[in-house]
Amino acid sequence: MLVFKFGGASVKDAAGITNLAQIVKKYSHEQLLIVVSAMGKTTNALEKLAKAYYNQAVDTHQLYEEVKLYHYSILHNLFDDTHPVFDDVANTFVEIDWMLEDEPVDTYDFIYDQLVSVGELLSTRIVTAYINQVGLTSKWLDVRGFIHTDNTYREGVVDWSKTCTSIQQYVPAMLMSGVVVTQGFLGGTSENFTTTLGREGSDYTASIFASCLQAQSVTTWKDVPGVLNADPKFFADTIKFDTLSYTEAIEMTYYGASVIHPKTIKPLQNAGIPLLVKPFNDPNAAGTVISHYDNQYFKKAIIIVKQNQALISISAKDFSFISENHLSHVYQLFAQNQVKVNVLQTSALSLSVCFDWVEERFNHLLNQLKQEFNVKYNSNLSLITLRHYQYELLKELTNGKKILLEQTSRNTAQIVIAG
Ligand code: ASP
Ligand code: MG
Repeated sequence: MLVFKFGGASVKDAAGITNLAQIVKKYSHEQLLIVVSAMGKTTNALEKLAKAYYNQAVDTHQLYEEVKLYHYSILHNLFDDTHPVFDDVANTFVEIDWMLEDEPVDTYDFIYDQLVSVGELLSTRIVTAYINQVGLTSKWLDVRGFIHTDNTYREGVVDWSKTCTSIQQYVPAMLMSGVVVTQGFLGGTSENFTTTLGREGSDYTASIFASCLQAQSVTTWKDVPGVLNADPKFFADTIKFDTLSYTEAIEMTYYGASVIHPKTIKPLQNAGIPLLVKPFNDPNAAGTVISHYDNQYFKKAIIIVKQNQALISISAKDFSFISENHLSHVYQLFAQNQVKVNVLQTSALSLSVCFDWVEERFNHLLNQLKQEFNVKYNSNLSLITLRHYQYELLKELTNGKKILLEQTSRNTAQIVIAG
């Protein structure tokens, strides 16, 4: 069996969904499970809605209406007005209507997951109905009964053994009777609440299903020709890799390459399942195959730009050295606050940490750190990572930029710059 994952960009409009159905048709002789993300920028829109609702902002209703309008306009392009999918979609919205009517009483992260998850519930309803409309058989699977997580909202931790048991018990029979369509990014707790697995987590969902079902491969359909050495949004002159080792793919995603979610590779590597990254607008193209390859020669460096970074420098209030004890304590505070560390540098008196900027989480962390340490920080930074770099490239990329931190090893250079 095969697992396909379609990201938001591939289902952003009616044409995208038509194209998805064509790809599925091409593979209809195979057993197929497809994992779908929220359509277009829906998750961002729902994030805004969650924030507005939590703060009881005046534009809450307006933000919600925009999400509805977007989905209904796509529905009208794909289906007759009498099609039952209109009811499915309306019922999905009802799930959050109830929540939005009352004032928020739960934590922000909990509310976020209950609201934001609607994006994937909607997209999969629409995709399932459309695949059926073009003459194939597909079944909608509510992933929340299969991917079991703890109750760490917005970053659900998967209970692998429970998850695989559920998947192995029910999904093989479903695959025999048609294409199984399910939601990326979501999970469910033992109390039947919805969790999310972290932004862009649909790739991870695909890899969980593939690993539990021993799939032949996972294909993630993207708006790029495959895995490139740099993000074409930032760099003009990119090259595509035909193959890539699991190791290199893990390194790249760890440093922030957004082409694949960082948690995706490990389960596939462990189960020896290749990951194919292919362009959805050219389904016959080879894309990139990520598998057990030996060390590769890189004729061009891999460049990864991670924006929205902050750099904090922490020193002891009494002028003492930064010790191992400080390090482990500070690290613990970062972990407790779910703030992701990307680079760490120590000197005698201070510890510098570059991390993903998430305002709510950072403010809490900052208050804790300030109780014990002197703290200075800058936000609005970018972290550039170069794998297999040459010195000239490093110079070129940092030319004229304000560098706040630099760290180089044999294979990897990391630079934190303003902007
Ligand atoms: N829709 C979610 C997001 O945009 C998950 C995903 O796209 O993988 O973060
Ligand atoms: Mg997405």
